Amino acid sequence: MIIVLRHDISPDQKEETRHFLQNHGYKVREIVGEQDTIFGAVGLVQMDFREVELLPGVDRVIPISKPYKLASRELKKEDTIVSIGSVRIGGGRIAVISGPCAVESRQQMREAAAAVREAGGVLLRGGAFKPRTSPYSFQGLGEAGLQILREAGDEFGLPVVSEIVGTEYVEICRDYLDVLQIGARNMQNFELLKRVGELKKPVILKRGLSATIEEWLMAAEYLMAHGTDDVILCERGIRTFETYTRNTLDLSAIPVIKKLSHLPIIVDPSHGTGIRGKVAPMALAAVAAGADGLMVEMHPHPEEALSDGPQSLFPDQLERLMRDIEAIAPVVEKELERIPNGISSSLKVSGKEVKKSPEQQEGNRRFSGEVAFQGMQGAFSETAVHRFFGEDCQAVPCETFAEVFKHVLNGKVKYGALPIENSLAGTVHEVLDLLLRYPDIIVVGEEKIRIIHSLMAVAGSSLESLKKVYSHPQGLAQCSRFFEEHLEIEREPFFDTAGAVAHIAEMRDPALGAIAGREAAKVYGVDVLREGIENNPRNYTRFFIIARLETPPIYSPNMAALMFSTLDKPGALFSVLKVLAENGLNMKKLESRPIQGKPWNYMFFVAVDLPEKREIFDKTIEEIKGTAGDVRVLGTYYNHGG
Ligand code: PEP
Ligand code: MN
Repeated sequence: MIIVLRHDISPDQKEETRHFLQNHGYKVREIVGEQDTIFGAVGLVQMDFREVELLPGVDRVIPISKPYKLASRELKKEDTIVSIGSVRIGGGRIAVISGPCAVESRQQMREAAAAVREAGGVLLRGGAFKPRTSPYSFQGLGEAGLQILREAGDEFGLPVVSEIVGTEYVEICRDYLDVLQIGARNMQNFELLKRVGELKKPVILKRGLSATIEEWLMAAEYLMAHGTDDVILCERGIRTFETYTRNTLDLSAIPVIKKLSHLPIIVDPSHGTGIRGKVAPMALAAVAAGADGLMVEMHPHPEEALSDGPQSLFPDQLERLMRDIEAIAPVVEKELERIPNGISSSLKVSGKEVKKSPEQQEGNRRFSGEVAFQGMQGAFSETAVHRFFGEDCQAVPCETFAEVFKHVLNGKVKYGALPIENSLAGTVHEVLDLLLRYPDIIVVGEEKIRIIHSLMAVAGSSLESLKKVYSHPQGLAQCSRFFEEHLEIEREPFFDTAGAVAHIAEMRDPALGAIAGREAAKVYGVDVLREGIENNPRNYTRFFIIARLETPPIYSPNMAALMFSTLDKPGALFSVLKVLAENGLNMKKLESRPIQGKPWNYMFFVAVDLPEKREIFDKTIEEIKGTAGDVRVLGTYYNHGG
């Protein structure tokens, strides 16, 4: 049952409630949600709910209708986010786990780890105990394999996961691994589930070869009832009559699980299909269907693999897949989970000491300080802040773009997030102008989010009752088709999308609506009447993450932004672009801006792909200095997928 606690419950009352339930034979789990704090109580006993409801501090008791309790969405509305060091699985992110089927040698795992890190994977896999169909197949290296996996993970800054095949391995798996995997063949090995649950470590629970979704969730329940909260479900294909593929990957399990459970679900397209060429299409389909991550087999030399070579990707195929996932991620309103810059992938060959950013020195965690953005709480910019820095950072609202710059400059916040370009409306010129005005501010990151406009109004309102809708002029313009279909609704410009929502929440008038991002409805407690009413679904905004000079880029940069003025002579712009071309720098954007106070003089803003060799970039800048007026590198940053 779910015991919803009163907001004014005292700590003593809470403890008394907990003891009362435990004394009646229940296991009690406290879950702090956005709205309420609840106790989830599960046990074999049957008791009259009314006895619990009478306790002081208890608001109400709700029975859970499903046989799985702790795993059920009824118990916990919010998505569970599993933390593995700095890596998170669940929520608005896609985590890619990769590595070979089996650990074969130290050299193989080092190469594999380097490739996973290079491609942008966040967890390294490798089987040490292989449950093979034939006793004559390679069985894995056992404990030596776990040791090799651990070393490779540590060297490349990747947490590690491997399969546990029996209760006798609980201790060694606990000691070597960050995440334990329960394989498909062991999904209903209940003794193993109990022992692994007791470790309270994150677990990847694969779906059994012929398990129903309910049986799978019951297996998760075993793990959770015995101690761990951190279960990641993994769809890996089920047995059907089809023989062309190794299994039939059941992607419909993703939305089904999303409805039934709060647990994250990832997909293994490698075992799901058994065929290398089928891995990427199914991986992309899984992402499009809402998977929280992927587990993909990749081998540095698949043709030499001791197991599952035919389904293992080559390293460059993994890299390609990652790029495609990055392109899809904003469409499903997700961000590819990445390990922040610092323990760089260049460790792999050079072995050189890599300078770590302060976040890495503090244990490689996501930034949990303050980040300034323009707008009110619930604005798209705030979504961008959290998409980039994770849930733990504090987004600080500012009235103007200039205020964001000032907060960063005077150290009130370390970072700021500013929209730089919208795919439909173009460049946000004010931000470019501010970058020009503040030479002590640089760009250290970039985030792209999809702009989905929702129509909202106070509870009890409906589309029919609406007379006037507020939003930022851009928001209104981007939803013009909706208004053409609803001529009776008047459009009213407002300074800010989230501000418009705050306004209608305050007015409490069912005739008033607002257009903003869904987040704002949560923040101001209004209802979403229609989602996705923008004319064009391919509506994205890119944000720059800014910081003070000398701040290192947050992820390994692959782009650079610069600004320059040209001399007043024929071919001046051409001479600068020529330097870029001659040095092989691919230009992604060119924009001109008038220089304040110098009528008819212009600054040019350019974004280029950062060459792999940093010296080439530095040399190019020196050469540009010889032919342009002022030149400034605005920063280098990581751009994912255009
Ligand atoms: C594996 O991931 O190594 C594995 C054996 O998968 P499954 O249990 O899904 O067959
Ligand atoms: Mn395998």
